[in-house]
Amino acid sequence: LNKNIDIAEVVKNDIAHHFHPFTDHKSFHAEGGPRVMTQADGIWIWDGNGHKLLDGMSGLWCVNVGYGRKELAEAAYKQMLDLPYYNTFFKTTTVPTTELAAKISSVMPERFKHIFFTNSGSESNDTIVRFVRHYWKLKGKPYRQHFIARTRGYHGSTMVAANLGGFQGMHEQVGTEFPGFHHIKQPHWFDLGGDKTPEEFGLEAAAELEKKILEVGPDNVAAFIGEPIQGAGGVLIPPSTYWPEVQKICRKYGILIISDEVICGFGRTGNWWGFETMGFEPDIVPMAKGLSSGYLPIGAVAFADHLIKDFFELGGEFYHGMTYAGHPVAAAVALKNIEIIERENLVGHTREIGPYFAEALASLRDHPIVGETRSVGLIGAIELSNDKARRGRFASPGRVGTMCRDNCFKNGLIMRACWDTMVLAPPLVITRKEIDELVRLARVALDATY
Ligand code: PLP
Repeated sequence: LNKNIDIAEVVKNDIAHHFHPFTDHKSFHAEGGPRVMTQADGIWIWDGNGHKLLDGMSGLWCVNVGYGRKELAEAAYKQMLDLPYYNTFFKTTTVPTTELAAKISSVMPERFKHIFFTNSGSESNDTIVRFVRHYWKLKGKPYRQHFIARTRGYHGSTMVAANLGGFQGMHEQVGTEFPGFHHIKQPHWFDLGGDKTPEEFGLEAAAELEKKILEVGPDNVAAFIGEPIQGAGGVLIPPSTYWPEVQKICRKYGILIISDEVICGFGRTGNWWGFETMGFEPDIVPMAKGLSSGYLPIGAVAFADHLIKDFFELGGEFYHGMTYAGHPVAAAVALKNIEIIERENLVGHTREIGPYFAEALASLRDHPIVGETRSVGLIGAIELSNDKARRGRFASPGRVGTMCRDNCFKNGLIMRACWDTMVLAPPLVITRKEIDELVRLARVALDATY
């Protein structure tokens, strides 16, 4: 395994030169710098010291088809030789870019015929804010400029996407929250449900949306954005009553629904899209990650026909776009990636193996510090708790979760901690035997944490 790499030298250089995202460098450097990942295959990844890990997170929720796909490398290689780059701004396109737009549309409900390309989930959400605000002006309702989202919703890291998101720390570093972005509580029964049943709590959480709409003024609200299942917030799976009620409220006030499918899209929940699993019908769908399974950066936004019709008719030029939007090499890889998902029926496989994954996680419920397990398809969570009966939380949120994550790492499993919620989203190619191994490794880490 990559015997020729001088890992100590990489670590030294990294500490000297690499400024990492979402990292506290003081403690990171004090702990000795990065673990260098060098190779991967299927659901397994190796670091430079030959340590093998089961990647329970698909990288950052993105390597849906698993690692080591030669076909994707070949698609990139061929496209680079044919045409490595051309733009899509000035009445030009490239073959894979257009084919990909048609392909994405073909795996979506009929009304999504038009796809705008970006390079990431953050850019997709920035694109949406610009589109939606302009759209309402075109429709003669320039006051409809406000967005409602959820606390601990994550929609990206650019300035606007971070404001759509509900992570306080990200707002504070900007100095202030942007005007026009509002947040309501997340539908997280474990922490916020109190004595209510999950179904009652789902309705209560949705009612917060109506309250916020009335507070902002129904005519001022442009759109509601939500991940069907909140990923980075801790895999928050809303009760079954939540999304249908949210949809009813949005329709009542003529508010657009944006389903952020950056994590849930491309099979993760056992359908192509999370909105299919959770039972609602969005108007706008941002996507990224699983679109190329992370092999190259690419994002996109699908817009429903009723928006596109007015926008194309009345909108003039859309003053927005990135140099690499619809990059031909990334598009060729994304096309091949979707072809693999279809050919290997990874969406069906996820739906079919989902209950096995849920049962395997549930087998951990007897552990003294496990308060709840939950999952849909191949996205799941383990809630760490100091009082199972009362759904209690440890003091200093995140301390025990971080310990558990580090113990996983030591023992050969990548599981992420969102405060004291351990989250999982393994590649969609995972087998039953590999799920057994994942859960075995998780229990070893829980034991070491307890
Ligand atoms: N939306 C959701 C739901 C995400 O989970 C993420 C990233 O984790 C983003 C948007 C931002 O995507 P990116 O990191 O590609 O900008």
